[in-house]
Amino acid sequence: MKVVIVGNGVAGVTTARLAVERDPSLDVTIYSEEPYHYYSRPRLVDLVGGQVTPADIQVYPEEWYAERHIRTVLNTRVTHLEPAEHRITLPSGETVSYDRLVLATGARAWVPPIAGADAPGVYTLRTMDDAVALRDAATPGRRVLVLGGGLLGLEVAAALSGRGVEVTVVEVFPRLLPRQLDQEGAEVLEERIERNGVEILTGDSCSAIEPEGPARVCKMKSGGMLEADLVVVSAGARSNVALAQEADIVCARGIVVDEHLQTSAPDVYAVGDAAEFEGRVWGIIPAALAEARLAAAQVTGDESATYHDIVPSTTLKVTGIEVTSIGEVNPETPGAVEIRAVRPGEGVYDKLVLRDGKVVGAIMVGSRANLRAVNLLMSRGTDVSAYQEELLQDGFDLLALAQQRTPA
Ligand SMILES: Cc1cc2nc3c(=O)[nH]c(=O)nc-3n(C[C@H](O)[C@H](O)[C@H](O)COP(=O)(O)OP(=O)(O)OC[C@H]3O[C@@H](n4cnc5c(N)ncnc54)[C@H](O)[C@@H]3O)c2cc1C
Repeated sequence: MKVVIVGNGVAGVTTARLAVERDPSLDVTIYSEEPYHYYSRPRLVDLVGGQVTPADIQVYPEEWYAERHIRTVLNTRVTHLEPAEHRITLPSGETVSYDRLVLATGARAWVPPIAGADAPGVYTLRTMDDAVALRDAATPGRRVLVLGGGLLGLEVAAALSGRGVEVTVVEVFPRLLPRQLDQEGAEVLEERIERNGVEILTGDSCSAIEPEGPARVCKMKSGGMLEADLVVVSAGARSNVALAQEADIVCARGIVVDEHLQTSAPDVYAVGDAAEFEGRVWGIIPAALAEARLAAAQVTGDESATYHDIVPSTTLKVTGIEVTSIGEVNPETPGAVEIRAVRPGEGVYDKLVLRDGKVVGAIMVGSRANLRAVNLLMSRGTDVSAYQEELLQDGFDLLALAQQRTPA
């Protein structure tokens, strides 16, 4: 059985690893447009912060692939796909046939239509090359404007600030981390980040970037101007669908897959940031891992398992501030109960969202003390309604409740 995987990010390489574990006789080849073996994308932030080198973040040594008989072809973009012929084309014009194909093409940084965003001095962060370029340009003492106060924007801001770079973050929404936090949680986080020396501007955005001598000037929608030495655009990612789309495989925001991760073409699967399931592209590693596990089963002939969407869970550490967001955090439909505990002096904010007496979402800013308990309560579907008033009160033993002991 010949399996071809396009893309050597976490989704592609995990699919290969689990597939050969299931069937060591598989003939697996991974093609990668990037010239590097699989590396940890989250650790690109540490690279920008100067804490690690490119070699440090490579996940497996070369022998790892050889031992598993996984062939890797780096620096080679798959240019064309013919599902009816079961073959792909490489830039040299060579064609390669497959029995099963896994599209793990990931995503790329998205840059909104801002005039001047394609000029020198404007950066994005998605690949190793992006990270090296940004690290080398953002030397201590320079002024950096980060456009986007989402997870990645805040992590990059913290990494640069830690190296003595002067950082301002601009977020178009009225609050930070609009997808993961609510208003109160974002306020607690913002105050703590500013205390650490990063300036935050919310409710504004950049409409044009213009050069001014060696510096850049961002013209803001509010009418103001912000000057910086360089600009980092962190406005989200878009799935790489071109290869599939050009082969007439059904795509929307991502490559559309069913519960077997099968695309609209026979024997072609999609996983990770490239794949869209039930209208959603998660763009996070837990989803990529869950999909890779299932795709490995599919390509080795086990079609019994089906994909169930994950509960999104994010944890980040912005200059040492723990922020966790799980499940439904900003209820949009009636029937949800929100319970909050705020300790502004300590920079701590906790929130639980309940439906039918069960925890369906949580925000934790500044402390992860309740993380284990919340994960257990959510995965077990424990009915907490008898304790609703006390859940986040000081001294209440949430973990005991989660472990089905009597809370003190
Ligand atoms: C800086 C940063 C920090 C992050 N931090 C976190 C975090 O803390 N937690 C979390 O859950 N997620 C995080 N993410 C998101 C996470 O990295 C992605 O969800 C994950 O990388 C998706 O994996 P993937 O294998 O689907 O795609 P990718 O990692 O994007 O890999 C896809 C690969 O396919 C290659 N490719 C594309 N098209 C072709 C082609 N035609 N031919 C050959 N090769 C091709 C691409 O070049 C790329 O190397 C972060 C992302 C970034 C950029």
